[in-house]
Amino acid sequence: MINITILGATGSIGKNTLELVRKSPEKFNVVGLTANKNISQMIALVNEFNPELIAMADEDSSIKIEKKIKCEVYGGKKGLDYVASNQNADTVVAGIVGYAGLSSIMSAIGSNKRVLLANKEALVCAGPLLISKLKKSKATILPIDSEHNAIFQCLGVDYRCFFKPKNLKKIILTASGGPFRTWTKESMANATVQQAISHPNWKMGEKISVDSATMMNKGLEMIEAHWLFCLNNNEIEVLIHPESIIHSMIEFTDRSSLAQLSIPDMKVPIAHGLTWPDRFSTHCNSINFNKIKKITFEEIDTEKFPAIKITRLILNEGNSAGCVLNSANEIAVEAFLDQKINFAKITYIVEKILDRFSDSFSVDFNSLEELEDFNNSIKIFGKSLI
Ligand code: NAD
Ligand code: MG
Repeated sequence: MINITILGATGSIGKNTLELVRKSPEKFNVVGLTANKNISQMIALVNEFNPELIAMADEDSSIKIEKKIKCEVYGGKKGLDYVASNQNADTVVAGIVGYAGLSSIMSAIGSNKRVLLANKEALVCAGPLLISKLKKSKATILPIDSEHNAIFQCLGVDYRCFFKPKNLKKIILTASGGPFRTWTKESMANATVQQAISHPNWKMGEKISVDSATMMNKGLEMIEAHWLFCLNNNEIEVLIHPESIIHSMIEFTDRSSLAQLSIPDMKVPIAHGLTWPDRFSTHCNSINFNKIKKITFEEIDTEKFPAIKITRLILNEGNSAGCVLNSANEIAVEAFLDQKINFAKITYIVEKILDRFSDSFSVDFNSLEELEDFNNSIKIFGKSLI
Protein backbone atom coordinates (compact mmCIF):
# COMPACT_ATOMS: atom_id res chain seq x y z
CA MET A 1 0.00 0.00 0.00
CA ILE A 2 1.34 3.43 -0.97
CA ASN A 3 0.30 6.15 1.48
CA ILE A 4 -0.22 9.44 -0.35
CA THR A 5 -0.74 13.07 0.53
CA ILE A 6 -1.89 15.36 -2.26
CA LEU A 7 -1.08 19.07 -2.10
CA GLY A 8 -3.52 20.89 -4.36
CA ALA A 9 -6.05 18.02 -4.36
CA THR A 10 -8.84 20.06 -5.97
CA GLY A 11 -6.74 21.10 -8.99
CA SER A 12 -6.05 19.41 -12.28
CA ILE A 13 -2.97 17.49 -11.04
CA GLY A 14 -4.78 16.59 -7.80
CA LYS A 15 -7.83 15.27 -9.65
CA ASN A 16 -5.72 13.23 -12.06
CA THR A 17 -3.87 11.66 -9.12
CA LEU A 18 -7.14 10.86 -7.34
CA GLU A 19 -8.49 9.29 -10.52
CA LEU A 20 -5.56 6.84 -10.42
CA VAL A 21 -6.29 6.15 -6.73
CA ARG A 22 -9.98 5.63 -7.51
CA LYS A 23 -9.15 3.02 -10.16
CA SER A 24 -6.59 1.14 -8.01
CA PRO A 25 -7.90 1.32 -4.42
CA GLU A 26 -5.94 -1.81 -3.46
CA LYS A 27 -2.67 0.03 -4.18
CA PHE A 28 -3.17 3.49 -2.66
CA ASN A 29 -4.31 4.98 0.63
CA VAL A 30 -4.97 8.72 0.90
CA VAL A 31 -3.49 10.16 4.11
CA GLY A 32 -3.76 13.92 3.56
CA LEU A 33 -5.30 16.43 1.16
CA THR A 34 -4.91 20.19 0.78
CA ALA A 35 -6.70 22.91 -1.17
CA ASN A 36 -7.02 26.67 -1.13
CA LYS A 37 -10.68 27.59 -0.60
CA ASN A 38 -12.88 25.20 -2.55
CA ILE A 39 -14.92 23.87 0.39
CA SER A 40 -17.59 21.92 -1.49
CA GLN A 41 -15.06 20.08 -3.60
CA MET A 42 -12.93 19.27 -0.55
CA ILE A 43 -15.96 17.90 1.33
CA ALA A 44 -16.70 15.59 -1.60
CA LEU A 45 -13.07 14.38 -1.64
CA VAL A 46 -13.04 13.77 2.12
CA ASN A 47 -16.26 11.76 1.86
CA GLU A 48 -14.90 9.67 -0.99
CA PHE A 49 -11.25 9.14 0.06
CA ASN A 50 -11.49 9.34 3.85
CA PRO A 51 -8.13 11.05 4.58
CA GLU A 52 -6.76 11.36 8.13
CA LEU A 53 -6.11 15.08 7.82
CA ILE A 54 -6.64 18.00 5.45
CA ALA A 55 -5.58 21.64 5.21
CA MET A 56 -7.19 24.64 3.56
CA ALA A 57 -4.70 27.41 2.71
CA ASP A 58 -7.45 29.95 3.26
CA GLU A 59 -7.95 30.16 7.07
CA ASP A 60 -11.65 31.12 6.82
CA SER A 61 -12.32 28.09 4.65
CA SER A 62 -10.58 25.83 7.18
CA ILE A 63 -12.87 27.12 9.95
CA LYS A 64 -16.00 26.70 7.81
CA ILE A 65 -15.16 23.18 6.67
CA GLU A 66 -14.24 21.89 10.14
CA LYS A 67 -17.86 21.57 11.25
CA LYS A 68 -18.84 19.65 8.13
CA ILE A 69 -16.32 16.79 8.06
CA LYS A 70 -14.89 14.21 10.43
CA CYS A 71 -11.12 14.30 9.82
CA GLU A 72 -8.48 16.62 11.35
CA VAL A 73 -8.52 20.08 9.72
CA TYR A 74 -5.67 22.60 9.57
CA GLY A 75 -5.50 26.07 8.05
CA GLY A 76 -3.10 28.53 6.49
CA LYS A 77 0.46 28.06 5.36
CA LYS A 78 1.44 26.31 8.60
CA GLY A 79 -1.46 23.92 8.10
CA LEU A 80 -0.22 23.04 4.62
CA ASP A 81 3.30 22.45 5.97
CA TYR A 82 1.90 20.22 8.71
CA VAL A 83 -0.11 18.06 6.33
CA ALA A 84 2.84 17.84 3.89
CA SER A 85 5.08 16.46 6.63
CA ASN A 86 2.63 14.03 8.27
CA GLN A 87 4.45 10.84 9.15
CA ASN A 88 1.78 8.46 7.88
CA ALA A 89 2.38 9.35 4.22
CA ASP A 90 5.41 8.18 2.28
CA THR A 91 4.54 9.94 -1.00
CA VAL A 92 3.56 13.58 -1.49
CA VAL A 93 2.16 14.87 -4.79
CA ALA A 94 3.12 18.56 -5.17
CA GLY A 95 0.19 19.90 -7.23
CA ILE A 96 -0.24 23.42 -5.81
CA VAL A 97 0.12 26.13 -8.43
CA GLY A 98 2.86 28.75 -8.13
CA TYR A 99 5.17 30.04 -5.43
CA ALA A 100 2.42 29.28 -2.86
CA GLY A 101 3.42 25.60 -3.03
CA LEU A 102 7.08 26.07 -2.14
CA SER A 103 6.89 25.97 1.66
CA SER A 104 4.88 22.73 1.78
CA ILE A 105 7.33 21.09 -0.67
CA MET A 106 10.20 22.08 1.62
CA SER A 107 8.29 20.49 4.55
CA ALA A 108 7.78 17.29 2.60
CA ILE A 109 11.50 17.19 1.76
CA GLY A 110 12.40 17.84 5.40
CA SER A 111 10.25 14.82 6.33
CA ASN A 112 12.04 12.55 3.85
CA LYS A 113 9.11 11.98 1.50
CA ARG A 114 9.04 10.79 -2.08
CA VAL A 115 7.90 14.05 -3.68
CA LEU A 116 6.19 13.91 -7.08
CA LEU A 117 6.89 17.38 -8.42
CA ALA A 118 4.33 19.02 -10.71
CA ASN A 119 4.78 22.48 -9.14
CA LYS A 120 7.64 23.69 -11.37
CA GLU A 121 7.40 27.26 -10.03
CA ALA A 122 8.79 26.09 -6.65
CA LEU A 123 11.96 24.73 -8.26
CA VAL A 124 12.30 27.74 -10.57
CA CYS A 125 12.10 30.14 -7.60
CA ALA A 126 14.16 28.28 -5.08
CA GLY A 127 16.40 25.82 -6.96
CA PRO A 128 19.53 26.08 -4.75
CA LEU A 129 17.58 26.18 -1.43
CA LEU A 130 15.45 23.22 -2.41
CA ILE A 131 18.39 21.14 -3.66
CA SER A 132 20.45 21.90 -0.56
CA LYS A 133 17.57 20.74 1.68
CA LEU A 134 17.07 17.66 -0.49
CA LYS A 135 20.73 16.66 -0.29
CA LYS A 136 20.62 16.83 3.53
CA SER A 137 17.50 14.63 3.66
CA LYS A 138 16.45 11.14 2.63
CA ALA A 139 13.73 12.58 0.38
CA THR A 140 13.47 11.85 -3.35
CA ILE A 141 12.11 14.22 -5.98
CA LEU A 142 10.53 12.63 -9.03
CA PRO A 143 9.41 14.90 -11.89
CA ILE A 144 5.82 14.47 -13.07
CA ASP A 145 5.70 17.52 -15.34
CA SER A 146 5.20 15.48 -18.53
CA GLU A 147 8.36 16.71 -20.34
CA HIS A 148 10.65 16.19 -17.37
CA ASN A 149 9.09 12.86 -16.60
CA ALA A 150 9.74 11.88 -20.23
CA ILE A 151 13.42 12.85 -19.93
CA PHE A 152 13.70 11.08 -16.59
CA GLN A 153 12.27 7.90 -18.17
CA CYS A 154 14.66 8.18 -21.14
CA LEU A 155 17.65 8.47 -18.79
CA GLY A 156 16.94 4.98 -17.44
CA VAL A 157 16.06 3.52 -14.03
CA ASP A 158 19.56 3.99 -12.59
CA TYR A 159 19.53 7.75 -13.17
CA ARG A 160 18.87 10.04 -10.17
CA CYS A 161 17.73 13.65 -10.58
CA PHE A 162 20.07 16.49 -9.57
CA PHE A 163 23.10 14.64 -10.98
CA LYS A 164 24.66 15.32 -14.38
CA PRO A 165 23.50 12.51 -16.72
CA LYS A 166 26.31 10.43 -18.20
CA ASN A 167 27.07 10.79 -21.95
CA LEU A 168 24.17 13.17 -22.53
CA LYS A 169 24.57 15.73 -25.30
CA LYS A 170 21.27 17.57 -24.93
CA ILE A 171 17.59 17.35 -24.13
CA ILE A 172 14.80 18.48 -26.44
CA LEU A 173 11.75 19.75 -24.58
CA THR A 174 8.67 19.47 -26.76
CA ALA A 175 5.94 22.11 -26.65
CA SER A 176 2.44 21.94 -28.10
CA GLY A 177 2.66 25.61 -29.08
CA GLY A 178 -0.53 26.35 -27.10
CA PRO A 179 -3.75 27.88 -28.43
CA PHE A 180 -1.98 30.68 -30.37
CA ARG A 181 0.54 28.62 -32.33
CA THR A 182 -1.04 29.57 -35.65
CA TRP A 183 -2.14 33.12 -34.67
CA THR A 184 -0.26 36.26 -35.68
CA LYS A 185 1.47 38.36 -33.02
CA GLU A 186 -1.02 41.17 -33.73
CA SER A 187 -4.11 39.00 -33.23
CA MET A 188 -2.65 37.46 -30.06
CA ALA A 189 -2.25 40.90 -28.47
CA ASN A 190 -5.94 41.22 -27.65
CA ALA A 191 -6.82 37.57 -27.11
CA THR A 192 -9.47 37.04 -24.45
CA VAL A 193 -8.99 35.04 -21.25
CA GLN A 194 -11.28 32.35 -22.62
CA GLN A 195 -9.17 32.04 -25.79
CA ALA A 196 -5.94 31.93 -23.78
CA ILE A 197 -7.10 29.17 -21.45
CA SER A 198 -8.49 26.95 -24.23
CA HIS A 199 -5.53 24.63 -24.65
CA PRO A 200 -5.74 22.36 -27.73
CA ASN A 201 -4.37 19.16 -26.10
CA TRP A 202 -4.37 19.40 -22.29
CA LYS A 203 -7.04 20.28 -19.71
CA MET A 204 -5.16 22.17 -17.00
CA GLY A 205 -5.55 24.92 -14.40
CA GLU A 206 -5.95 28.53 -15.61
CA LYS A 207 -2.47 29.76 -14.69
CA ILE A 208 -0.54 27.04 -16.53
CA SER A 209 -2.94 27.36 -19.48
CA VAL A 210 -2.06 31.07 -19.83
CA ASP A 211 1.62 30.13 -19.45
CA SER A 212 1.17 27.70 -22.35
CA ALA A 213 -0.40 30.46 -24.44
CA THR A 214 2.57 32.84 -23.86
CA MET A 215 4.95 29.84 -23.92
CA MET A 216 6.34 31.03 -20.59
CA ASN A 217 5.43 27.51 -19.44
CA LYS A 218 8.24 26.23 -21.68
CA GLY A 219 10.54 28.94 -20.30
CA LEU A 220 9.81 27.81 -16.73
CA GLU A 221 10.33 24.21 -17.87
CA MET A 222 13.77 25.10 -19.28
CA ILE A 223 14.77 26.37 -15.83
CA GLU A 224 13.12 23.33 -14.22
CA ALA A 225 15.24 21.09 -16.49
CA HIS A 226 18.37 23.11 -15.68
CA TRP A 227 18.00 22.25 -11.97
CA LEU A 228 16.58 18.71 -12.29
CA PHE A 229 19.17 17.42 -14.75
CA CYS A 230 22.13 19.81 -14.09
CA LEU A 231 22.06 21.19 -17.64
CA ASN A 232 23.38 24.41 -19.16
CA ASN A 233 21.56 26.68 -21.55
CA ASN A 234 23.21 25.10 -24.61
CA GLU A 235 22.16 21.59 -23.53
CA ILE A 236 18.45 22.50 -23.48
CA GLU A 237 16.58 22.75 -26.80
CA VAL A 238 12.91 23.48 -27.30
CA LEU A 239 10.81 22.35 -30.24
CA ILE A 240 7.14 22.70 -31.11
CA HIS A 241 5.37 19.38 -31.56
CA PRO A 242 1.65 20.17 -31.93
CA GLU A 243 0.34 16.60 -31.51
CA SER A 244 1.71 16.24 -27.92
CA ILE A 245 2.53 12.55 -28.39
CA ILE A 246 6.29 12.79 -27.86
CA HIS A 247 6.66 14.33 -24.40
CA SER A 248 10.38 15.10 -24.79
CA MET A 249 13.58 13.61 -26.17
CA ILE A 250 17.21 13.22 -25.23
CA GLU A 251 20.31 12.87 -27.36
CA PHE A 252 23.46 11.11 -26.17
CA THR A 253 26.99 12.09 -27.19
CA ASP A 254 27.05 9.22 -29.73
CA ARG A 255 24.04 10.95 -31.42
CA SER A 256 21.60 8.24 -30.41
CA SER A 257 18.24 9.75 -29.40
CA LEU A 258 15.46 8.45 -27.17
CA ALA A 259 11.92 9.74 -26.78
CA GLN A 260 9.01 8.94 -24.47
CA LEU A 261 5.53 8.73 -26.01
CA SER A 262 1.98 8.48 -24.73
CA ILE A 263 -1.37 10.11 -25.39
CA PRO A 264 -1.55 13.53 -23.71
CA ASP A 265 -2.83 12.43 -20.28
CA MET A 266 -1.16 13.59 -17.04
CA LYS A 267 -2.13 10.31 -15.38
CA VAL A 268 0.69 8.64 -17.34
CA PRO A 269 3.60 10.62 -15.78
CA ILE A 270 1.85 10.72 -12.37
CA ALA A 271 1.48 6.91 -12.40
CA HIS A 272 5.15 6.57 -13.31
CA GLY A 273 6.13 8.71 -10.31
CA LEU A 274 3.81 6.87 -7.92
CA THR A 275 5.42 3.45 -8.31
CA TRP A 276 8.87 4.27 -9.81
CA PRO A 277 11.13 2.34 -10.34
CA ASP A 278 8.32 -0.18 -10.74
CA ARG A 279 5.25 0.36 -12.94
CA PHE A 280 1.61 -0.54 -12.50
CA SER A 281 -1.25 -1.21 -14.89
CA THR A 282 -3.39 1.92 -15.41
CA HIS A 283 -6.67 2.50 -17.23
CA CYS A 284 -5.15 5.21 -19.45
CA ASN A 285 -5.67 4.84 -23.19
CA SER A 286 -2.91 3.41 -25.39
CA ILE A 287 -1.55 5.34 -28.35
CA ASN A 288 -3.35 4.13 -31.44
CA PHE A 289 -0.46 4.31 -33.90
CA ASN A 290 -2.75 3.23 -36.76
CA LYS A 291 -4.75 6.44 -36.34
CA ILE A 292 -1.81 8.85 -36.08
CA LYS A 293 -1.43 10.27 -39.57
CA LYS A 294 1.74 12.26 -38.81
CA ILE A 295 4.01 13.49 -36.07
CA THR A 296 5.30 16.99 -36.82
CA PHE A 297 7.81 19.49 -35.44
CA GLU A 298 8.23 23.25 -35.86
CA GLU A 299 10.85 25.72 -34.78
CA ILE A 300 9.62 28.28 -32.22
CA ASP A 301 9.13 31.84 -33.47
CA THR A 302 10.79 33.68 -30.58
CA GLU A 303 9.58 37.06 -31.88
CA LYS A 304 6.03 35.84 -31.39
CA PHE A 305 6.89 34.02 -28.17
CA PRO A 306 9.56 36.20 -26.48
CA ALA A 307 9.28 34.11 -23.27
CA ILE A 308 11.80 31.66 -24.73
CA LYS A 309 14.34 34.43 -25.47
CA ILE A 310 13.83 35.95 -22.02
CA THR A 311 14.41 32.58 -20.35
CA ARG A 312 17.65 32.00 -22.29
CA LEU A 313 18.97 35.30 -20.88
CA ILE A 314 17.79 34.41 -17.36
CA LEU A 315 19.49 31.00 -17.53
CA ASN A 316 22.84 32.78 -17.91
CA GLU A 317 22.22 34.91 -14.81
CA GLY A 318 22.48 34.13 -11.10
CA ASN A 319 20.29 31.89 -8.99
CA SER A 320 17.71 34.46 -7.95
CA ALA A 321 16.95 35.46 -11.55
CA GLY A 322 14.58 32.47 -11.76
CA CYS A 323 12.69 33.78 -8.73
CA VAL A 324 12.30 37.22 -10.33
CA LEU A 325 11.13 35.70 -13.61
CA ASN A 326 8.61 33.42 -11.93
CA SER A 327 7.18 36.07 -9.61
CA ALA A 328 6.97 38.60 -12.42
CA ASN A 329 5.08 36.05 -14.50
CA GLU A 330 2.71 35.11 -11.64
CA ILE A 331 1.83 38.80 -11.13
CA ALA A 332 1.30 39.44 -14.85
CA VAL A 333 -0.77 36.28 -15.42
CA GLU A 334 -2.99 37.06 -12.42
CA ALA A 335 -3.58 40.57 -13.78
CA PHE A 336 -4.47 39.12 -17.19
CA LEU A 337 -6.89 36.59 -15.65
CA ASP A 338 -8.46 39.47 -13.66
CA GLN A 339 -8.77 41.35 -16.97
CA LYS A 340 -6.60 44.23 -15.77
CA ILE A 341 -4.12 43.94 -18.67
CA ASN A 342 -4.34 42.57 -22.19
CA PHE A 343 -2.50 39.46 -23.40
CA ALA A 344 0.42 41.35 -24.99
CA LYS A 345 1.10 43.15 -21.70
CA ILE A 346 1.96 39.89 -19.89
CA THR A 347 5.45 39.68 -21.39
CA TYR A 348 5.84 43.48 -21.24
CA ILE A 349 5.22 43.47 -17.46
CA VAL A 350 7.59 40.51 -17.00
CA GLU A 351 10.38 42.37 -18.82
CA LYS A 352 9.80 45.57 -16.81
CA ILE A 353 10.05 43.65 -13.52
CA LEU A 354 13.18 41.82 -14.69
CA ASP A 355 14.79 45.19 -15.56
CA ARG A 356 13.98 46.62 -12.12
CA PHE A 357 15.51 43.64 -10.26
CA SER A 358 18.45 42.87 -12.56
CA ASP A 359 20.94 44.10 -9.92
CA SER A 360 19.72 41.32 -7.58
CA PHE A 361 20.08 38.40 -10.03
CA SER A 362 23.19 37.01 -8.36
CA VAL A 363 21.97 37.29 -4.75
CA ASP A 364 22.05 33.95 -2.91
CA PHE A 365 19.46 33.16 -0.28
CA ASN A 366 20.33 31.39 2.96
CA SER A 367 16.78 30.65 4.05
CA LEU A 368 13.20 30.42 2.88
CA GLU A 369 12.47 33.57 4.91
CA GLU A 370 15.06 35.57 2.96
CA LEU A 371 13.58 34.32 -0.31
CA GLU A 372 10.08 35.16 0.94
CA ASP A 373 11.13 38.79 1.66
CA PHE A 374 12.67 39.07 -1.80
CA ASN A 375 9.59 37.57 -3.43
CA ASN A 376 7.37 40.03 -1.54
CA SER A 377 9.40 43.00 -2.78
CA ILE A 378 8.95 41.77 -6.37
CA LYS A 379 5.20 41.44 -5.79
CA ILE A 380 4.90 44.96 -4.37
CA PHE A 381 6.76 46.48 -7.32
CA GLY A 382 4.83 44.34 -9.82
CA LYS A 383 1.45 45.31 -8.40
CA SER A 384 2.36 49.03 -8.56
CA LEU A 385 3.30 48.55 -12.20
CA ILE A 386 -0.05 46.90 -13.02
P1 NAD B 1 -4.99 24.13 -10.72
O1 NAD B 1 -5.22 25.60 -10.73
O2 NAD B 1 -5.93 23.25 -11.45
O3 NAD B 1 -4.92 23.62 -9.20
C1 NAD B 1 -4.16 24.28 -8.25
C2 NAD B 1 -4.33 23.68 -6.87
O4 NAD B 1 -3.59 24.49 -5.95
C3 NAD B 1 -5.78 23.68 -6.37
O5 NAD B 1 -6.00 22.53 -5.58
C4 NAD B 1 -5.85 24.93 -5.48
O6 NAD B 1 -6.78 24.82 -4.44
C5 NAD B 1 -4.44 24.99 -4.93
N1 NAD B 1 -4.04 26.37 -4.62
C6 NAD B 1 -4.21 27.47 -5.39
N2 NAD B 1 -3.72 28.56 -4.76
C7 NAD B 1 -3.21 28.13 -3.59
C8 NAD B 1 -2.59 28.78 -2.49
N3 NAD B 1 -2.36 30.11 -2.49
N4 NAD B 1 -2.19 28.04 -1.44
C9 NAD B 1 -2.42 26.71 -1.43
N5 NAD B 1 -3.02 26.03 -2.41
C10 NAD B 1 -3.42 26.74 -3.48
O7 NAD B 1 -3.49 23.92 -11.26
P2 NAD B 1 -2.89 22.65 -12.01
O8 NAD B 1 -3.14 22.78 -13.45
O9 NAD B 1 -3.29 21.40 -11.30
O10 NAD B 1 -1.32 22.91 -11.79
C11 NAD B 1 -0.71 22.66 -10.56
C12 NAD B 1 0.80 22.68 -10.74
O11 NAD B 1 1.19 21.60 -11.58
C13 NAD B 1 1.32 23.95 -11.43
O12 NAD B 1 2.56 24.28 -10.89
C14 NAD B 1 1.48 23.53 -12.87
O13 NAD B 1 2.50 24.26 -13.54
C15 NAD B 1 1.90 22.07 -12.71
N6 NAD B 1 1.55 21.23 -13.87
C16 NAD B 1 0.27 21.04 -14.19
C17 NAD B 1 -0.07 20.24 -15.30
C18 NAD B 1 -1.51 19.97 -15.66
O14 NAD B 1 -1.77 19.19 -16.56
N7 NAD B 1 -2.47 20.59 -15.02
C19 NAD B 1 0.95 19.67 -16.06
C20 NAD B 1 2.26 19.88 -15.69
C21 NAD B 1 2.56 20.66 -14.58
MG1 MG C 1 4.90 20.40 -18.88
